Amino acid sequence: MVTKSVAEAPKLNIAILGAGIAGLTLAIALKTHPLFKITIYEKATELKEIGASIALGPNGLRTLEKLGLSDVISDENGFRGTGTAGMVYRHWKTNEIIGTDVHSDVKEWLHQTTRFHRGHLHGKLVEHVPSDGIKLGKKVVGVEFEEEGVIIIFQDGSRVLADIAVGADGLRSGVRQALVPDFKLEWSGWTAFRSVFEASLVGSIPDLPKDSAHWWGPETNFFSSRLGRNMYTVVGGVAADPKDPNARFEEVSWDETGEVNLLREIYANWNPVVKALTEVTPDIRYYPNFSCSAPLDTWVFEDRVALIGDAAHAHGGAYATGGSLAIDDAYALHLSLNSIFTRSDNQKPSAHEIGQALRLYEATRKPHAEKLLKVVHAGNAAKIEKIRKGTLEKDEELRARAQKGSNTGWLHEHDVVKAFEEALTASETIDASEDKVPARL
Ligand SMILES: Cc1cc2nc3c(=O)[nH]c(=O)nc-3n(C[C@H](O)[C@H](O)[C@H](O)COP(=O)(O)OP(=O)(O)OC[C@H]3O[C@@H](n4cnc5c(N)ncnc54)[C@H](O)[C@@H]3O)c2cc1C
Repeated sequence: MVTKSVAEAPKLNIAILGAGIAGLTLAIALKTHPLFKITIYEKATELKEIGASIALGPNGLRTLEKLGLSDVISDENGFRGTGTAGMVYRHWKTNEIIGTDVHSDVKEWLHQTTRFHRGHLHGKLVEHVPSDGIKLGKKVVGVEFEEEGVIIIFQDGSRVLADIAVGADGLRSGVRQALVPDFKLEWSGWTAFRSVFEASLVGSIPDLPKDSAHWWGPETNFFSSRLGRNMYTVVGGVAADPKDPNARFEEVSWDETGEVNLLREIYANWNPVVKALTEVTPDIRYYPNFSCSAPLDTWVFEDRVALIGDAAHAHGGAYATGGSLAIDDAYALHLSLNSIFTRSDNQKPSAHEIGQALRLYEATRKPHAEKLLKVVHAGNAAKIEKIRKGTLEKDEELRARAQKGSNTGWLHEHDVVKAFEEALTASETIDASEDKVPARL
């Protein structure tokens, strides 16, 4: 076999479809590899600061730090509060603290749960991607497979051939739609009302908690937090039975301008801090909550395509973990792809070898995401059942629930590198037992 130098070695063309949190993180992780050529295709025609607040837990923050992105996770860009708790739960009427989620093994300040304006997190990630590496106005509408690779079809009629395509195109993924046409998203019945505004507006509210806080009530919740760069966010909302034909908000579109007086009405009888927060909130937008009706059977298609982030596991943002999950997906895929390019001959890997790497990524991440989806679906079903029966949570039940906390250390402190190493060992054991020889192109 002829050994090629890195300079003359054929590059592996990797098309990342979607320039969101997952797609950008993957591009950053892969950009220094001399044998990968990365191009991101994004449907938006401009990368604007849209969205509201987004949280990253210790897992996502640690991963971004491993990628050298200290400016992205800095205190300037995001808000950590006093850094003592992942989440503080307060009573809707009395404002007293009734529970906390405390990280079990987070020693570094920069790894404490951090809250960002999504535009600021996204904008900082964009700065780490070469400016000619993102092709805008490229909405993916189809995918075809050929012997030499995968063809990506865009709405503008153009097509590109890649060795690997990564569907990082979010909740309403066009890549997933093309490959799994019967996939369904369903409305959970919850519609969030979100607002992000200058922190100076909350300056004169007495007793405003320093930390981010989640007030729990019998019918709905309220969240507020500072964000980086002197911004502030509030999130309220209403829960409905999604099958109720009269349910409000089923028809509203994501990010639609809402009616701020509605927010004020819903929380009119809550404690004075929440009430005051609703009064200074200048405007709101509606975000109906959608998640997948069932997990996908596979995230890997024809040894050429993998899904990451919300495209792979649309869980609806529960437990504020969607951003960190997307970041860890990207990191796991980067580790898996690197594992197929460790050969000294610098030959282009075969489709079969690429498929092995993609399946290694899937083995690292899918069980973790499925565990989350199970929890989310059970939680949604329980909430809908309560609404249908018209039963309101009693005060002692609410307090007991808050005292227990969310029990999400397994999510927020998940170690993606350890999970990857375990999946790698398991795959090597299978390969050895089957005495597999990797196929060549
Ligand atoms: C504009 C925007 C604002 C958001 N605001 C918030 C927020 O305020 N709070 C919050 O918790 N979460 C928000 N999210 C969702 C959040 O970013 C994700 O849930 C999470 O970070 C997982 O990231 P992701 O990369 O999988 O998906 P996303 O971050 O949603 O990224 C998907 C990317 O793919 C692009 N895309 C979609 N379809 C196609 C297609 N067919 N072809 C090519 N590109 C496509 C999208 O424009 C987007 O850039 C927002 C997402 C978007 C796109």
